[in-house]
Amino acid sequence: MQFEPIVGERNKRPMFIAGPCSAETEDLVMETARALAAGGKTDYFRAGIWKPRTRPGEFEGVGSVGLPWMRRVKEETGLKTTTEVGTHYHVFEALKYGIDALWIGARTTANPFSVQEIADALKGTDIPVLIKNPVNADLKLWIGAIERVYKAGITKIAAIHRGFTYHGQTPFRNMPHWQIPIDLKRAFPQLPVLCDNSHICGRRDILFDVAQKAFDLNFDGLMTETHPNPDKAWSDAAQQITPEQYLALIDRLIIRPTESDDQEFIENIVHLRHEIDDMDEELINLLGRRMKIADRIGEYKKHNNIAIYQNRRWNEILEKAIENGRNRGLSEEFVSIILKAIHDESINHQEEILKK
Ligand code: PEP
Ligand code: MN
Repeated sequence: MQFEPIVGERNKRPMFIAGPCSAETEDLVMETARALAAGGKTDYFRAGIWKPRTRPGEFEGVGSVGLPWMRRVKEETGLKTTTEVGTHYHVFEALKYGIDALWIGARTTANPFSVQEIADALKGTDIPVLIKNPVNADLKLWIGAIERVYKAGITKIAAIHRGFTYHGQTPFRNMPHWQIPIDLKRAFPQLPVLCDNSHICGRRDILFDVAQKAFDLNFDGLMTETHPNPDKAWSDAAQQITPEQYLALIDRLIIRPTESDDQEFIENIVHLRHEIDDMDEELINLLGRRMKIADRIGEYKKHNNIAIYQNRRWNEILEKAIENGRNRGLSEEFVSIILKAIHDESINHQEEILKK
């Protein structure tokens, strides 16, 4: 796929999108937009016109009556505008009122029928489309949505990481699996990837840390929900910040260039990367040798008719490795993920041996 850049209002990287979760009233929309425009740190003004709420009866957006408010934002503040579309009707309405970019929400991205419906409605236009990750941590589904939109003739596309549904305790509303957007970027190096820190966090106090992390990982922009009176917001009150807080957050961010022309720095990095490459090779060799031993154990177990998996043995391995890792500054989570992956592979090998 060949993507074209989405030119923001300030026409430079990174791209900043801010505005309320929902376009509640014309006054709210105009007040927020004016404050953001005055700060000079916003490319696109966001506001949800149609809201995909988890349960019926919650505020589902004002609908098309809010579209002229967005046009007023553009006329009076010069900010470009963007809103979420979930059906072909939303697309037609948004285009009719001159919305500058559309975004596809996480619940919609998860549904290929809906994405296709939107893609079909987009045919013949060249409006930029921002595609949020699906609610579930499925890179292929995210790529599938990007492909559907691209095949409809849209080339100005960006992806937005807004975190994934996660079962279990986390500090986040939606768990950021950073490796997934990183893999997306690796698959499509030209595709801008933005971070929606608001929907990842679901709360105000960690918005900055998540935004900084995204830029440390070389993300191309940020989408943040802003509301002049966040506690009174009709949706997502807990995560919205005032335009002033938003501008302060942007000012605090450290956005480092990804390249440098300092010769000494480049030489040092090249040297260190060689070391990493050598170690990665060693690691793989070592894992290969470890697996050969697991294979031999598998043969013995087969001859002696013993079950492959032994709980006590596995617990010992894991505990020893976690302790060892701790002494080397490796987190328990990391060591257990690695060990579990190795153990899985050993079991698969031994199963193959049993089948022979
Ligand atoms: C939103 O941006 O307000 C929204 C509903 O986002 P998501 O699709 O990420 O839940
Ligand atoms: Mn929201």
